[in-house]
Amino acid sequence: MSLPTKMMAAMLDKYNEPLNYREIDIPEMGPKDMLTKVVMASVCGTDVHLAHDELPFTPPLPLLMGHETIGEIMNLPEGVTTDTAGNPVKVGDRIMWAHHFDNKCYNCKVLHEPQGCMHSIGYGFHHLGGFAEYEVVFDGTDFVRVPDCVTNEEAVGCCCAGRTVVSAFEKLQNAGGIRTGDCVVVTGVGPVGLYCIVMAANSGASRVIATDVSPERLEFAKKWGATDVVNLKDHPDEAELIKYIQGLCTNGRGPDVMIECSGIPAVFAQNLKILANYSKFLIIGQTSTRSCEIVPNMIQDKNMVIVGSKSGDIRHYIKCLKFVEAKREKYPFGSIISHVYKMSDINTAIANMRAAKDLKAGVVPDAWFKG
Ligand SMILES: [Zn+2]
Ligand SMILES: [Zn+2]
Repeated sequence: MSLPTKMMAAMLDKYNEPLNYREIDIPEMGPKDMLTKVVMASVCGTDVHLAHDELPFTPPLPLLMGHETIGEIMNLPEGVTTDTAGNPVKVGDRIMWAHHFDNKCYNCKVLHEPQGCMHSIGYGFHHLGGFAEYEVVFDGTDFVRVPDCVTNEEAVGCCCAGRTVVSAFEKLQNAGGIRTGDCVVVTGVGPVGLYCIVMAANSGASRVIATDVSPERLEFAKKWGATDVVNLKDHPDEAELIKYIQGLCTNGRGPDVMIECSGIPAVFAQNLKILANYSKFLIIGQTSTRSCEIVPNMIQDKNMVIVGSKSGDIRHYIKCLKFVEAKREKYPFGSIISHVYKMSDINTAIANMRAAKDLKAGVVPDAWFKG
């Protein structure tokens, strides 16, 4: 079967303007490149910021965004028989893939942290992404097969939010992790927050407390394993809020572990005040370059460990998919996709994500969108 050479793609031609769903050439493929048919891509909060030029970096235009993609293998290059995890693969299998890492730089070779690769090539940032009918997975990219029993909606969250949380929890583990009986607070119930909640609930925590301002999102949090939810709108006074959350944890001692997923710098500062003595603070959601005021003494005085984590590599995709496969009867992982749009409607999807009407939007190319 000959492979297609052209495709429809939702192109960002100008920042702060709608994407254009138009035909583009599929880049010429090398003998070791793989073409995939995009069966679902999802819109990340990062894409929403990227389209509005609100990130600390500005990729050149035109840009084909989309770094959360499930694609069906269209061709298997010679010698490729398994995914990175060793699962056999064939044409037609669904896969997801990490960004491309060079496996040569200091972070890859010496630190064994490819997610921090100094020459990484990001799909949907530096290389054509998934808001299109097809996506080229080029030579040297690690990929993993999506298990047949896991739906696209259940799997697609692993591509970004899920793998980010798996990676962050591994770093937290190195700092002592969540211990049996711990009280954990997760601030911000977006996709990243939801994966934190479900993974904390499965790490031995006695309480997993979610905070947000949206009652709908807090209801979601309960379904993903939160034992308690706090709507910040019900606690406008900061001193009262701090006392209230601390009161939910071990006779008012405060949380043993705090995970910041709201992305709001002021929440980071507030979390320092809420945390218990001898606590751990994991930062995953902060993408803004804004600053906030803190009292550094609090970190010292509370013997706090602060851990930051960004992104993930194929290890974390593989582990996240295994987790979802094992727990899919217990948690509604597919509900992370609040709506599936035709790819030509991607501007509505982005607008609804920006307005927080959608938790996460899925997009499917018009030609095989089933509605
Ligand atoms: Zn993302
Ligand atoms: Zn590298």
